[in-house]
Amino acid sequence: MILRMSSLFLRTLREDPADAEVPSHKLLVRAGYIRRAAPGIYTWLPLGLRVLRNVERIVREEMDAIGAQELVFPALLPREPYEATGRWTEYGPNIFRLKDRKGADMLLGPTHEEMFTLVVKELYSSYKDLPLSIYQIQNKYRDEARPRAGVLRGREFVMKDSYSFDVDDEGLAASYERHREAYIKIFDRLGFDYVIVKAMSGAMGGSRSEEFLAIAENGEDTFVRSPGGYAANVEAVVVPQAEPVDASGVPAAEVVDTPDTPTIDTLVDALNAKHARADGREWTAADTLKNVLVMLVHPDGTREPLAIGVPGDRAIDEKRLGAQFEPAEVVAFEESDFEKFPSLAKGYIGPGVLGAENTSKIRYLLDPRIAEGSAWVTGADKSGYHVINLVHGRDFTADGTIQAAEVRDGDEAPDGSGPLASARGIEMGHIFQLGRKYADALDLKVLDRNGKLVTVTMGSYGVGVTRAVAAIAEGNHDELGLVWPREIAPANVHLVATGKDAEVFRKAAELAAELESRGLTVMYDDREKVSPGVKFKDAELIGVPTIAVVGKGLAEGTIEVKDRRTNTSADVPLTEVVDHLV
Ligand code: ATP
Ligand code: MG
Ligand code: MG
Ligand code: MG
Repeated sequence: MILRMSSLFLRTLREDPADAEVPSHKLLVRAGYIRRAAPGIYTWLPLGLRVLRNVERIVREEMDAIGAQELVFPALLPREPYEATGRWTEYGPNIFRLKDRKGADMLLGPTHEEMFTLVVKELYSSYKDLPLSIYQIQNKYRDEARPRAGVLRGREFVMKDSYSFDVDDEGLAASYERHREAYIKIFDRLGFDYVIVKAMSGAMGGSRSEEFLAIAENGEDTFVRSPGGYAANVEAVVVPQAEPVDASGVPAAEVVDTPDTPTIDTLVDALNAKHARADGREWTAADTLKNVLVMLVHPDGTREPLAIGVPGDRAIDEKRLGAQFEPAEVVAFEESDFEKFPSLAKGYIGPGVLGAENTSKIRYLLDPRIAEGSAWVTGADKSGYHVINLVHGRDFTADGTIQAAEVRDGDEAPDGSGPLASARGIEMGHIFQLGRKYADALDLKVLDRNGKLVTVTMGSYGVGVTRAVAAIAEGNHDELGLVWPREIAPANVHLVATGKDAEVFRKAAELAAELESRGLTVMYDDREKVSPGVKFKDAELIGVPTIAVVGKGLAEGTIEVKDRRTNTSADVPLTEVVDHLV
């Protein structure tokens, strides 16, 4: 294929777009890959679409290689399945909702667990049908609070989402492992410097969850890792407190007084209790916190994190422990949730509830009995600022000022594998053992080999496809422009014809045709009346990794071949150039 610059639908820009802060966003707009249509919503121009298709191809090949089968769901979905799983409410303002002409509620799918579960339920009924992995590469819609950095965090974006269906836990573990291996291949091929970290739900009982983070300064996630191989998103780190918390400095008015054997109602009440702030206004944990994690401490000393509400984050509500609360409103837990967690009834919750007024100031409540090490609470305020493993005196003072909010560099890893160091990353993929949450909610059962109906166990696995394009650009550019990895680039060779000599253009066209016949995609700058300087600048900005210049050298029978990554060049004899380039 030949992309002729004289007619290619492309205009490069010399100026950075005013709304762009990170390099990938600036360069993708300037080099003519994407255009903003609305905040967080982007148009893919021909060059961008070629790159996007390349990422999709890699993802598709690796999914197909593990036997996953592709299908496509609609993005426009009915409310009912999402109602049945609680996510219609749980996702809160992140869902794009609409009504059809008859007044029925609909949504634009933010993720498709429900739809996949239902289609398997409709078509399959026996253990013999399983295991099954199915996937789609499709547009997702999330009304993100802060769309950011171009397509890095969009409100419409392309995700590859796959789902595995197994009859038992071993099957799920195997399906998860297969996806994990496929993801390693995908992110290797995409050329990422990445790390696989424990993700939030990893702390939730037996279920396993990991994220693939591209290491990048501009990433929104913070992870920690140890020399001994521990790696976790800071959201998921639960570091046992080295020292018991001394709550003696906690003002009495800010201590939640709960009975020794609190019930879930106690906890809900504590979340809704009104407290006076220093300025006299009232606040509750429920309306200031985005989510709360309560640590349960069992009689044998083992600790267990318990999520009690995280609107919009499917990672944490895995056990449907009640009650996803909307800000300022705590929905009551169901008795059945309670049964799933017998430790709630037996164990001592020793509730401390942490409240955040705003991003910079955090108020806390602590039960002085926390000093006995019975329990503690971590939380995150609505900005997503995560607060973990608080130690009184170290992390906050008696007036509620937080001094440190995250696990610190140099802290020992929870598994004892050495001191932790933190860095930033971009979440590129997320794999997740869902277990039976969705199958339970939507009643997906099959007959097992004994003829007994059993609930299917599921995994879900996502890759951010449009995000990957931005993340690759974020990691592959220099001061001149983009530098694509070969497998991702919009073309194999950027062929530039310079000067006014008709012979140059004739030779270049010939070369383009020959390269095309050898299976390459050639971006051919055949523009007349455009100076060599402009052509080179465009080539550097666009970032095809190999640039071949047909120009002055032609008189001596050579073509200049530049390596865009090293910005070095060599004169290659015309007779050898095709073999050199393919
Ligand atoms: P994030 O923490 O960045 O908001 P997420 O955890 O909400 O992502 P998942 O629900 O795990 O996202 O979705 C799977 C993948 O989809 C993510 O790993 C990410 O690569 C991609 N993704 C999620 N949200 C967006 C978005 N707004 N724009 C682009 N890609 C996204
Ligand atoms: Mg998100
Ligand atoms: Mg995430
Ligand atoms: Mg995720």
